[in-house]
Amino acid sequence: MSRELNWAGNYAYRATQLHRPATIDELRAVVAGAPRIHTLGSRHSFNDIADAAELVSLDALDPAIEIDREAMTVTCGGATRYGDLAQTLEAAGLALHNMASLPHISVAGAISTATHGSGDALGNLATAVSAIELVTSSGDIIGVTRGHADFDGMVVGLGAIGVIYRLTLDLQPSYMVRQEVFEDLAWETLFDRFHEVFSSATSVSLFTDWGATINTTWLKSRILPDGEEPLRADLMGALAATKAHHPLASMAASSCTDQLGLVGPWSDRLPHFRMDAVPASGEEIQAEYMFAREHAVAALRALLEIADRIRPLLLISEVRSVAADTLWMSTAYGRDTVCVHFSFKPDVEAVTRFLPELEAALESFDVRPHWGKVFAATARELEPRYPRIADFKALAERLDPRGAFRSDFLERTVFG
Ligand SMILES: Cc1cc2nc3c(=O)[nH]c(=O)nc-3n(C[C@H](O)[C@H](O)[C@H](O)COP(=O)(O)OP(=O)(O)OC[C@H]3O[C@@H](n4cnc5c(N)ncnc54)[C@H](O)[C@@H]3O)c2cc1C
Repeated sequence: MSRELNWAGNYAYRATQLHRPATIDELRAVVAGAPRIHTLGSRHSFNDIADAAELVSLDALDPAIEIDREAMTVTCGGATRYGDLAQTLEAAGLALHNMASLPHISVAGAISTATHGSGDALGNLATAVSAIELVTSSGDIIGVTRGHADFDGMVVGLGAIGVIYRLTLDLQPSYMVRQEVFEDLAWETLFDRFHEVFSSATSVSLFTDWGATINTTWLKSRILPDGEEPLRADLMGALAATKAHHPLASMAASSCTDQLGLVGPWSDRLPHFRMDAVPASGEEIQAEYMFAREHAVAALRALLEIADRIRPLLLISEVRSVAADTLWMSTAYGRDTVCVHFSFKPDVEAVTRFLPELEAALESFDVRPHWGKVFAATARELEPRYPRIADFKALAERLDPRGAFRSDFLERTVFG
């Protein structure tokens, strides 16, 4: 196979074969017959997490979206994209608890890396998973549901446990959301009233280039049954925008979901970007670091101190919050989390050189990097930051005794 690229084009997969089985039996045979293999999702990760000698994509399998109204769950194929799933759910009057910034990613790929949106009370996307069906490296099929002793280790599985060919997610009745954007929140206001800012809506995102103010603050508010609150003229001194924004000031807001307080379904407001448009800038390299919420202000201050080093490489940063969960390899495991994201310019060498300096600035905050974005930390550094990592390694070794899913990425960042 010619070298395939990830979505951003900053990584060329080293795999020499890409399998596209059309049936579950073909999938089982491909996996069982490969010495080293990994599942490829929608290729939106920025590092080599999805790479191996051979790759298998599930995009030729029927997504078979099945809604169970009694259980309030949906079951679908692993390669289903959130945007397609959300459309089906919304048409049925149903909803997910949250979405990432983009709807283009596959469900299994997103949950495998603990992909998240924002919201003090909202867990990452993997927390909605209530059951998974996997093909293990022996070609066997296993199904595990929430409550099983291994379940919390299997959901954020980094591709190390097996091929998730179907999974089940919790649902709730559809709801409406409105999105408002505020301009130029003062840093000192954020530092003094951090909790108030992040609890001022269902989902809050701050976009900043580490300049004099926080460029834009995006509030996504769920409309409650007793009606809509009046739109605010300002948020703690930051004025409501009178035009729609893209996170990057230089880009057109037409690729973003509706803002300006216009009420719409959850599926068209929770992601920042529209399914029919290119998300973000399209030419970028992303990194993101998660720390406990109590460190948020100190960590942001530490980053402001190196703003002059960050800005030449930066397109935009985003700050979000995620509720604690119990999934062993989740970046929000055991702690309410704040995430600081960096969309860097697509200069692989310069970004790679800068990452150790960036991570050193955050060293005292026990940060966990996003599994699907670029980072410099190695297994030795990450091990103490994941209390259940030994259990995860034992689980991976038990379910994949021949090490078929062990990849360079996993050796470097987990197994060490
Ligand atoms: C523009 C852009 C915006 C983004 N926004 C966000 C955001 O808002 N929040 C956030 O947290 N992240 C965000 N990300 C990162 C992205 O969500 C993650 O990298 C996610 O893992 C991508 O999913 P994917 O389907 O492309 O997976 P891939 O990158 O293809 O694979 C990721 C991992 O999942 C595994 N995997 C994939 N499918 C399966 C399967 N069926 N069974 C087992 N393992 C599987 C792979 O082996 C690999 O280990 C963004 C990325 C981009 C490009």
